[in-house]
Amino acid sequence: MATNPRLFQPTSERGWSCLIDHLKEHNRYCRSCGYLLRKLQQDACPECGRAFDPDDLRTTLKHPNWNPWKLLGSFYAGLVILIGVVASAATVLSFLAFDPMIYKLSTFAMSVLMLPLVIMTLIPRVETRFRTRLIGLASVALLLSVAFTDWPLRVSFAFHRPALEVHAETFLAGEPVTTPTTFGLFTVMKVKNHRGNVGYQLTGGGGGGTFLVLKDPSNEFVWINTNWEWSLGGDWFHVYQD
Ligand SMILES: [Zn+2]
Repeated sequence: MATNPRLFQPTSERGWSCLIDHLKEHNRYCRSCGYLLRKLQQDACPECGRAFDPDDLRTTLKHPNWNPWKLLGSFYAGLVILIGVVASAATVLSFLAFDPMIYKLSTFAMSVLMLPLVIMTLIPRVETRFRTRLIGLASVALLLSVAFTDWPLRVSFAFHRPALEVHAETFLAGEPVTTPTTFGLFTVMKVKNHRGNVGYQLTGGGGGGTFLVLKDPSNEFVWINTNWEWSLGGDWFHVYQD
């Protein structure tokens, strides 16, 4: 701000009031867009072009009380926080093999907010930082990628797979298993054998829930009464038994 430096070295009470008067007189805002008109030496707003008279205070505003781009910027920042939190939670839930419908339905509900977020990201006049725009787009991309590909579960499963395969072999050989039991981050409520296919129940109860299933390669089917069956690679599937 191009202000006389002497104004910032008040040596008396009167010095302070001079400074305050100076700021009062010189910090005025455009009536159209709320742009801060620091020194009223022009006759038009550099932001929107609206004309004003430096000697007539009625042609400018004392407070920037109407700036839709600033308001949109605040709204945008709120959306970024909300979608960022949901995207992070979805990543963690997927990694821990929670029921994927939790984050898939949340993502569907969030789509009504993701669309305006993406549109506002592309409008340069929305007043928000470049970093906030990046975080906004990254959050949308993260949430969609988790909902559509379940990649955190796939990464997590890759770490758990060897232990589960060793266990499935001993389970099929007749070794008794006490449940619930844990494999790394996965809590297994029940282990079931369905004609040679081994199912590790992760969620739900006796009536159904999500399972990790190791299919016997000679079997055509994956599991019983499934709503969905998603391949995890090899003979492994993530299924929902209804
Ligand atoms: Zn203006």
